Amino acid sequence: MAVQSLENQKEESVSTPLEKPLPLDHLERVEAWGMNTSVCSYVYRPTTVEGIREVFQIAKAHDRTVALRGSGCSYGDASLGAENISLDLTRMNRILDWSPETGVIRVEPGATIRNIWQYVIEDGWWLPVVSGTMFVSMGGALGMNIHGKNNYGMGPFGEHVLAFDLLTPAGELLRCSREENSELFFGAIGGFGMLGCFVSVTLRLKRIYSGQLSVYAFATPDLSTLFREFEARMGSADYLVAWVDCFATGKALGRSLIHQADYLAKGVDPTPTQTLRVKHQELPETILGLIPKSIMWRFMKLFGNNWGMRLINRTKYVQGSTLGNKKTFRQSHAAFAFLLDYVPNWKFIYKPGGLIQYQSFVPEATAEACFRAQLETCQRAGIVPFLGVFKRHRKDSFLMSHAVEGYSFALDLPVTKHNRERVWSLAKELNQLVLEAGGRFYFAKDSTLDSETARSYLGEEALHRFYALKRSCDPHNLLQTELSRRLFGTDWK
Ligand SMILES: Cc1cc2nc3c(=O)[nH]c(=O)nc-3n(C[C@H](O)[C@H](O)[C@H](O)COP(=O)(O)OP(=O)(O)OC[C@H]3O[C@@H](n4cnc5c(N)ncnc54)[C@H](O)[C@@H]3O)c2cc1C
Repeated sequence: MAVQSLENQKEESVSTPLEKPLPLDHLERVEAWGMNTSVCSYVYRPTTVEGIREVFQIAKAHDRTVALRGSGCSYGDASLGAENISLDLTRMNRILDWSPETGVIRVEPGATIRNIWQYVIEDGWWLPVVSGTMFVSMGGALGMNIHGKNNYGMGPFGEHVLAFDLLTPAGELLRCSREENSELFFGAIGGFGMLGCFVSVTLRLKRIYSGQLSVYAFATPDLSTLFREFEARMGSADYLVAWVDCFATGKALGRSLIHQADYLAKGVDPTPTQTLRVKHQELPETILGLIPKSIMWRFMKLFGNNWGMRLINRTKYVQGSTLGNKKTFRQSHAAFAFLLDYVPNWKFIYKPGGLIQYQSFVPEATAEACFRAQLETCQRAGIVPFLGVFKRHRKDSFLMSHAVEGYSFALDLPVTKHNRERVWSLAKELNQLVLEAGGRFYFAKDSTLDSETARSYLGEEALHRFYALKRSCDPHNLLQTELSRRLFGTDWK
């Protein structure tokens, strides 16, 4: 292990300031992306690795814990630490190295997907795995091991990471790859910020020959057809995703619109130099050429209730299954990948209570019955997801993996003052369905799991190995979040 001893340095550099209480001017309100919870934390935004070390030392001296935070795009409490230190990495967002010949890039942890694609696309490269928003940081992408609409083919983000440097609270700066410190490599990716702070990340990107994708959109009338279409297409499609109308009932339960997207082979795009420009990728400033997208959420807020969302879902399906059905068109990578970024602040339609996203991952054999039961359970409870997104996945070898050889279903559930308790007990019912189906959950989206459920799907063997890594990297249990305390307590045994 490339261990860098910090002990002496620590004594010298921080003895005086640490005797003071934590400065109140660092105190800020920090919110979950889903706006369903927020905390007060002492926020530090270092710009160097030394700055991170210093924050760890400040925390130790003040007997506080540290919650690592990237862009704060996790829907729940995964990067929150109430009354403790929030170590915000957003200012460490530099590109450290880039080779347009090999597509290998090294970046700081606060660099976002947006920073990276905008930097590399004109050289003909794209990130092999991206989330539905481009604002996610590299620290967060590794911390949760994010997946894209191509998980069944490309695996999670971690599969494209060549190496990273991890600064542990124990003071070691460790280079990790599949060859070096490999157990930590597979544990820290997806390790929800519990083992150390990624301070640099080296990735291999994907070669592209056009700034456009060929997209095919079509409707499916029910859940069974949705599954059949995915099974038939996943062998050849580069990306597959479905939007599901969660309000539809009876024979139409699970009706959906599928989008399949494929890369253009070399030579197909007659003007690649133009389509690979950042400007070509950018999403238009107005919707239908008229409404500035920045005010769109205010208009959408009028529909932010059961009746409005039922209408929007129905209209979208009817439009997609008539005029928009079986259409092939070209779309820029950014427009296809980051549709959710198209309307800035769209989440404000869920104000003031916010939303939770409930995403479960269920093996192929049991997924259809499980997702059917989930939809029926939500409808019976009168808390119908405003948005449902369906994807195909494959297993991976990361220690705390959320993936299965099967499917995921992500449900956006509105939270209000009146339904909050009912939403949490609905999630409990859904958990039971997922556990019975042999499924898994995803910390990036979670707000409602309990410790027993988490232990039960992760299994004792994985937990045992993860706890051993935790004790060795973070012996004083400095790295904690609201999520880690909720699911694993504080003793890691
Ligand atoms: C609109 C939207 C769409 C999304 N779509 C997808 C999707 O398609 N697929 C998907 O997988 N996810 C998706 N997500 C979830 C998102 O990708 C994850 O929550 C991601 O982890 C957020 O990254 P972040 O930079 O915001 O990190 P944060 O949310 O701030 O933190 C995430 C985790 O990483 C840890 N962490 C942060 N920085 C570091 C670091 N430097 N070192 C170690 N640990 C660190 C934190 O402690 C925390 O546990 C979506 C989220 C939103 C809001």
